[in-house]
Amino acid sequence: MSEVIVVALGGNAISQPGQRGTAEEQRANVQTTTRQIATMIRSGMRVIVTHGNGPQVGNLLIQQEEASRLVPPMPLDICGSQSQGQIGYMIQQSLLAQLNDLKPRPRVVTVVTQVQVDAKDPAFGKPSKPVGPFYGEDVARKRMSEKGETWIEDSGRGWRRVVPSPNPKAIVEHETIRALATDGTVVIACGGGGIPVTVGADGTLVGVEAVIDKDLAAECLARDTKADTLLILTDVSKVALGYRTPEQKNIDAMSAAEARIYLSQGHFKAGSMGPKVEACVRFVEHGGHRAIIASLNEANEALLGRAGTAIRA
Ligand code: ADP
Ligand code: MG
Repeated sequence: MSEVIVVALGGNAISQPGQRGTAEEQRANVQTTTRQIATMIRSGMRVIVTHGNGPQVGNLLIQQEEASRLVPPMPLDICGSQSQGQIGYMIQQSLLAQLNDLKPRPRVVTVVTQVQVDAKDPAFGKPSKPVGPFYGEDVARKRMSEKGETWIEDSGRGWRRVVPSPNPKAIVEHETIRALATDGTVVIACGGGGIPVTVGADGTLVGVEAVIDKDLAAECLARDTKADTLLILTDVSKVALGYRTPEQKNIDAMSAAEARIYLSQGHFKAGSMGPKVEACVRFVEHGGHRAIIASLNEANEALLGRAGTAIRA
């Protein structure tokens, strides 16, 4: 059967540093990104795409705050679902345009995706993930007292809300995503790390105010959909030891055991490269065939073993 691949897109796939994030800018970035994905689809791979949503959900949160006198603000989980829709829509349209010559025309859909987290996850006791923009102390104090949110002062740049970042346990819609992908439909799923939900005693799902790391969610998605390959795309060409030091050494390939040692030695920064390496290690440790971290513009080269960093079992 055809190879099933989960492609995790980094922030640079949708917005570039220094941009304001207009619709035109995002469309242009997505167009460049989907060229890489279109190549995979043409080669016969079954592709599941996932992506970050930091700047997009940040802007949605500003819109909630600024318009709150006019319309009721939506909570973080609903903003997360909105961001999945808007980003998925751009990817769908762009991919279809690039694959317009294929017969039959490929099917591309976005699945609004919930991710189960454990209500007892220790992350809920220590909110750590910043969301949304910086505000003054007055706004922060008001939101802390009125809504019970956690806000932190960030090294003189202002106040920012932090939310828990729990571990993803399972992708709620994984069977649908797997069925669509194996049937040849390109699926965009689990954007922004998915919408975190907890499961009540009676099985009902409830959205929580939290953000799941998008790389760890991509791994959960790849595992739950029994994908062969996890490809994490970002803005550096390889994972490095001694990153940004005179001794920097780029890694072509490493075993999961080696990666765990490097992780414990602090080579991969928490919140950026750390979760990517952790995701790849988890994937191959759970029987995934291959995991690769590469730069977005070298995605297909990396799949051929000519770029990126491969993590083996
Ligand atoms: P993404 O949006 O793709 O998740 P991140 O900023 O979260 O992007 O992660 C990519 C960044 O990780 C790189 O731009 C790089 O600055 C940083 N990084 C941290 N440690 C390392 C390392 N050891 N090797 C390579 N890059 C690293
Ligand atoms: Mg990141």
